[in-house]
Amino acid sequence: MDEFDVLYQEVILDHNKNPRNFGTLDPFTHKAVGHNPLCGDYVEIFLFIDGDTIKDVKFKGVGCAISKASASIMTTVLKGKKIEEVKDLFERYHTVLTSKPDEPVDVSNLGKLAVFAGVREFPVRVKCATLPWHTLMEALEKKDSVLKME
Ligand code: ZN
Repeated sequence: MDEFDVLYQEVILDHNKNPRNFGTLDPFTHKAVGHNPLCGDYVEIFLFIDGDTIKDVKFKGVGCAISKASASIMTTVLKGKKIEEVKDLFERYHTVLTSKPDEPVDVSNLGKLAVFAGVREFPVRVKCATLPWHTLMEALEKKDSVLKME
């Protein structure tokens, strides 16, 4: 498969065109801003957390199709999840995306996120796909923060 096939699958194009949970959350309990200067991706994540459960999430941002689709798909899997579950999921997602292209990986427990597995073949794009997640982790750690991916 060439870069176009791998990176711009139908589901990615759909989420890029019609991002889910797009906008700001009011009220919110946690928020973070993430920026990937390499590509120009910018994302803001808003969370409403009650106890250890993510009750609601929204995002705003501009950037490439990969970063926007990644943020959109991420928001669809977060609602109702416990923070620990979300951290585990990010760990698995991150492991797959940062593995070498010829390394065998298990995407069976990634759910909808498996669509981004092919991104690992294009290292420059990995930051686009992980930016929303790194920003989410920032939001979970601190209540309001700004992240710049190096
Ligand atoms: Zn990007």
